[in-house]
Amino acid sequence: MRVGVAGCAGRMGQMLLKTLAAVPGVLVVGGSERRGSPALGMDLGALAGTEPFGITVGDDASVLFENADVVIDFTNPSATAQHAGYAARTGAAHVIGTTGLDSEQVAAVTRAAQRAPIVLAANMSLGVNLLEQVVEQVARILDTEWDVEIVEMHHRHKVDAPSGTALILGEAAARGRGVALRRVAKRSRDGQVGPRVKGEIGFAALRGGDVVGDHTVLFAADGERVEITHKASSREIFARGAVKAVLWAAGKPPGLYSMKDVLGFSVAKPAAD
Ligand code: NAD
Repeated sequence: MRVGVAGCAGRMGQMLLKTLAAVPGVLVVGGSERRGSPALGMDLGALAGTEPFGITVGDDASVLFENADVVIDFTNPSATAQHAGYAARTGAAHVIGTTGLDSEQVAAVTRAAQRAPIVLAANMSLGVNLLEQVVEQVARILDTEWDVEIVEMHHRHKVDAPSGTALILGEAAARGRGVALRRVAKRSRDGQVGPRVKGEIGFAALRGGDVVGDHTVLFAADGERVEITHKASSREIFARGAVKAVLWAAGKPPGLYSMKDVLGFSVAKPAAD
């Protein structure tokens, strides 16, 4: 299987190159970076910390889509939306880990998914996808006497907040409660915000150091509190998930898929009355 890596000099890009180099049956056929990146022209092996690949970093992602069966993309929202257009044009599968896409960028990806298989997942780890299922179930069981707050912490370089994962967990809690997250989300608090509104789902984002990604969903009632936490201590968990998504997506019919499709998760829902 021919695989390309967009954003190959980034924190995730380098981890992906290293992970892909060890997967039997996978051939890395290219890596792209933004114009002006100091990595342009470097051998991909130098980024992966492995033997030379004999392939250098280029600045034209469209070439990746022309030459690969699947392109993995951990870049930034505007680049990812543009790349989805290349997926639509070539039919190559597109595995997107980029977070922070706005509604127009999500719409561009959704349109592209009519012509190519696209996996869009703000968190590719097994643990967080499991947490999402658990949060939905807990939120379904607990009523609005239980306040839901989501706290996340990431390294100092992260540019979007709240994290894509925190928003996914918020969506899961809202689904469990049968409400739309956009109606109940409190994405930040500052100043005289007044007492907490019943039913809202709050977010708090911490930034610092080299934290790969910590997420806690708190359910707080009078006299007791339930906290469900996931802590990522290595980017390898995302790279492993992305490789699973690559192997799964190749040759799939066009469509917009999630990690739940890739992992085959289905948690039994309570029977309707
Ligand atoms: P990073 O800044 O280290 O890497 C991003 C790379 O993309 C950079 O090297 C940048 O130069 C490159 N880039 C920018 N524009 C480009 C373009 N047009 N073409 C090619 N390359 C381009 O960031 P990171 O920590 O690797 O994270 C990247 C993204 O992945 C972020 O949105 C982050 O939130 C997300 N992320 C998702 C998961 C997940 O599991 N889905 C896990 C970790 C990070």
